[in-house]
Amino acid sequence: MATIADKLQAVRARIDAACRAAAREPASVTLLAVSKTFGPEAVAAAAAAGQRAFGENYVQEGVEKIVALRAAGVTGLQWHCIGPLQSNKTRPVAEHFDWVQSVDRLKIAQRLSAQRPAQLPPLQVCIQVNVDGGPTKAGVAPEQAVALAQAVAELPGLRLRGLMCIPDPQPDPAAMLAVFADAAALFARVRTALGDPPAFDTLSMGMSDDLELAIAAGSTMVRVGSAIFGRRAYAAAPA
Ligand SMILES: *Cc1c(COP(=O)(O)O)cnc(C)c1O
Repeated sequence: MATIADKLQAVRARIDAACRAAAREPASVTLLAVSKTFGPEAVAAAAAAGQRAFGENYVQEGVEKIVALRAAGVTGLQWHCIGPLQSNKTRPVAEHFDWVQSVDRLKIAQRLSAQRPAQLPPLQVCIQVNVDGGPTKAGVAPEQAVALAQAVAELPGLRLRGLMCIPDPQPDPAAMLAVFADAAALFARVRTALGDPPAFDTLSMGMSDDLELAIAAGSTMVRVGSAIFGRRAYAAAPA
């Protein structure tokens, strides 16, 4: 049976191949290992194989894992909150995570900024964009992304790093690629509107099934869960 280390290596090989196909540097794409629903021992196994950045969807589960890994002496990990955030759950996120990729309204950003402990570096944030426009989906509408980015960029406890999106899967690869290309165009527009800040360097898109298409369109961070850790036994817990 393939171990977590084997599967990580296979995912890294897919990223390298996709970068070569797109004439991009493999170092231009960061792998975020999405460890939601898997225990601290799975994270520790991935960390032992060299993985540093981990993504969690559910606040309490994520905080428990962060604390457990630290207690086990596994250091140097970077934790990303990638799940929907309610305003009454922002404090543990501001206190424990390094990144939040799912900021989709100013109120959440203001709370995270105010609650970020002063002795920690600013919380690194991405704005989640509803790039393919479903009315019930999380994320700010593309036409509101510039205004939200400009407001978030002013908050002292945060550092705005880029955009994140979770488009619906498309059976046709060309259609999927077109959605990712829309996201890349929006990323460039927002960056220009902000005055090209060097820290605005992250376009987080692509998962286990579509990371090659996302990289072809310009993704700088792919979020990969099942291809590393296996099939999830449960789909969702309340955030
Ligand atoms: C679960 C999840 C992923 C990983 O999905 P896989 O298909 O298992 O790779 C990526 N991003 C977000 C926001 C997720 O919730």
